[in-house]
Amino acid sequence: MSFEPHGKHLIAGEWTGSEGTFASQPVRGPSHQTANGGAAEVERAVVAAEEAFWTYGYSSRAERAAFLDAIADEIEARADAITEIGTRETGLPEARLQGERGRTTGQLRLFARHIEKGDYLDLRHDEALPDRAPMPRPDLKMVQRPVGPVAVFGASNFPLAFSTAGGDTASALAAGCPVVVKGHPAHPGTGEIIADAILAAIEKTGMPKGVFSLIQGNTTDLGAALVQHPLISAVGFTGSLGAGRALFDLCAARPVPIPFFGELGSVNPVFLLPDALAARGAEIAKGWAGSLTMGAGQFCTNPGVVIALAGPDATAFVETASEALSQVAAQVMLTDGIAAGYRAGRDKIAATTGVRQVLTTVCDQRNATPYFFATTGKDFLANAALGHEVFGPLGIFVEVSDPAEMLEVAKSFEGQLTSTLMMDTGDTALARRLMPILERKAGRILANGYPTGVEVSEAMVHGGPYPASTNFGATSVGTLAIRRFLRPVCYQNIPDDVLDIR
Ligand code: NAP
Repeated sequence: MSFEPHGKHLIAGEWTGSEGTFASQPVRGPSHQTANGGAAEVERAVVAAEEAFWTYGYSSRAERAAFLDAIADEIEARADAITEIGTRETGLPEARLQGERGRTTGQLRLFARHIEKGDYLDLRHDEALPDRAPMPRPDLKMVQRPVGPVAVFGASNFPLAFSTAGGDTASALAAGCPVVVKGHPAHPGTGEIIADAILAAIEKTGMPKGVFSLIQGNTTDLGAALVQHPLISAVGFTGSLGAGRALFDLCAARPVPIPFFGELGSVNPVFLLPDALAARGAEIAKGWAGSLTMGAGQFCTNPGVVIALAGPDATAFVETASEALSQVAAQVMLTDGIAAGYRAGRDKIAATTGVRQVLTTVCDQRNATPYFFATTGKDFLANAALGHEVFGPLGIFVEVSDPAEMLEVAKSFEGQLTSTLMMDTGDTALARRLMPILERKAGRILANGYPTGVEVSEAMVHGGPYPASTNFGATSVGTLAIRRFLRPVCYQNIPDDVLDIR
């Protein structure tokens, strides 16, 4: 099934163009022109979102759940066309797009069921104590209220699950917040067909048109205008540290600062503890190589750095991992810019003092093949840049001299989305020493697994201390993500017939 994008914005129920356009850069098939939005489109979309808030923000939980379910249904109704345009624009394989679509509709439905239960409202009640001495206590109720219109920026590497109707949009809509999405220029047609599905759901469930807008564009001015609009109340962002930091600073510098929930990248260190390495080093090496190169390494949870104690087991691990990585064929990357950034990252690592190239491969244009480097704990500690994300299938092995140096390396990491322990029973004592460090560093700590693959569930945390995210109290995946777009309000002695808690 083929889908030919018309290249327009969707603003409060209307498909509309702009004077300027930009050309999409599909991996295959024809490029198409897409409207390039700016401040004028932002103004229209955000004003409509604010207007919609006065009804949508007070809709019942059942009405919003029906809306989320309808979006999921409409996405499924366009399944094949979404896969077709998605693979064309991103180069991701068909099976990946299909899986991601299931995850996207699954998380919309998960949020529908979550708000139906109602416990996310965290309703609290301190009953009045009129006879309390020396002062009576008033009646106090607390509930979480939606914050208002939310701006959403998706990332290139998840054109569905972290994009137009991804986790940020789903959680904001579930909370009762209208959404204005800044479309990702790497997949404008995919964004358009998803926006079409959301529009159909709006019409089916009678939601106000301003509840959702998609503004297409490829300029930083567009993103800046969106986060600086006075009627935007919060921002959900998934993407790179550079862009996230720039937008975070704009949000903080506004006359009225607003929360910016940036979900950024990290290197997701994997600690190979001695007994596990001795018992199953080869198996772990192959598994790690698979995780590092999955999807051309274009995952925020990509396990880019591995740490182990020096010795024969470490040497064998490097050999097996290198052999496994050398078998991985070139994979197409999401954009030309990301491919260029990957090679620039490789050059920077290769030029770092104390770094040895274990596996050098050749790739060009929009392709990626793995790169594998090794260094010592001492050199890793001396070069902070080795702990920075290179987006793509690039791995660094860090050989530490003893457990104390492993702990020092663990302490040296910036905030991470994940940290992993590969451990057997005999490694428990060292794992217990690492845990207090890793808990301060990461949003999710795993044992004997690989961090790529993030479950969308109640207990998931996909976030972490800066720079993994700009707000360590939050997650962008799982039901807890709704908390980002809610604000507690306390009602003191407000009569029940005035209070509208639904
Ligand atoms: P990106 O280049 O940061 O783009 C994300 C969005 O920000 C796009 O809409 C982009 O649009 C906009 N943007 C970029 N620079 C900007 C600036 N200076 N000012 C305003 N807006 C700006 O990221 P990406 O390449 O799409 O995604 C890859 C990155 O996302 C990786 O670092 C990956 O680790 C991270 N990621 C994180 C998660 C997570 O959940 N933590 C998930 C997936 C990906 P324009 O290009 O039009 O400006």
